[in-house]
Amino acid sequence: MTREDAVVVIGLGRFGSSLALELMKSGTEVLGIDGDADIVQAHNGLLTHVVRADSTKEETLRQLGVADFSSAVVAIGGDIQANILTASLLIKLGIGNIWAKAVSEPHGAILDQLGVSHVIYPEKDMGKRVAHLVRGVMQDYLEIGENFAMVKMAPPQETVGIPLAKTRVRPVHGVTVTAFLRDGAGWNYTTLETVLEADDVILVAGETERVEAFSRLR
Ligand code: ADP
Repeated sequence: MTREDAVVVIGLGRFGSSLALELMKSGTEVLGIDGDADIVQAHNGLLTHVVRADSTKEETLRQLGVADFSSAVVAIGGDIQANILTASLLIKLGIGNIWAKAVSEPHGAILDQLGVSHVIYPEKDMGKRVAHLVRGVMQDYLEIGENFAMVKMAPPQETVGIPLAKTRVRPVHGVTVTAFLRDGAGWNYTTLETVLEADDVILVAGETERVEAFSRLR
């Protein structure tokens, strides 16, 4: 295991487990740590290494060689005290990239103050994302940074049947149709000459409010 390129995932609950498995799928080695014997057992063979340990103990983390890793994720959710203690120990060990899951704004603020480089709010972010989908007009929604989003949706009437250059989507709506999905042809990037069809699916990028307004067009 090359520790500089590998990731330590602490807490293999629903979030930590799916994160760790996804890392493995994309070819990243993972050291999983969890205090629960059954959970450790369930991940045996699925991660590069899995150990049963209490991540709030500095000596334990040192013995496991956690200090040699450059990236770690604190995926403990339910036990805020364990989450904060673990994050502070990872900082003490000098790990450069730390992602820690926060379950509330005040919890996230504490992690920020500790100096955690990436505080993540999986539940809140997923809630926001699903809210956009529940409204029924978007097929997928991804917020990228503060005020930018990408949306998968059906093309509004005014963008169908004429070359994109003539639709004036960008000057009028302030968004860009970046790609389109057509039956049998898969995804393709758009050009100014692309003529969308009513059955296409499009991928639109732009400021959050602009893409939301665009997705409401019929
Ligand atoms: P999720 O909501 O993603 O399922 P949970 O908070 O329920 O997250 O799960 C977190 C995991 O972290 C659990 O499997 C639990 O055993 C583990 N965990 C909690 N505290 C510690 C600790 N101090 N050391 C190691 N693992 C811990």
